[in-house]
Amino acid sequence: MEEREAKPEEGVRVRREKVRIRCNRCGEVYILRGRRSKNGEIETGFVQCVCGNTDDFTITPLETSVI
Ligand SMILES: [Zn+2]
Repeated sequence: MEEREAKPEEGVRVRREKVRIRCNRCGEVYILRGRRSKNGEIETGFVQCVCGNTDDFTITPLETSVI
């Protein structure tokens, strides 16, 4: 699990979204912090489950914080 302390980009206040990603194929659950993009989608950088699943997930927003 990658743990990075992201710095605010260029002084812009970034809205951070914590999301739970559950794999619908094997049931693995990931808690990730993402970024809300302009089109309302949450970008987490998450690409693939350990089982190889890349597109069948249930994504649940957990909390919102502004840094
Ligand atoms: Zn999986």
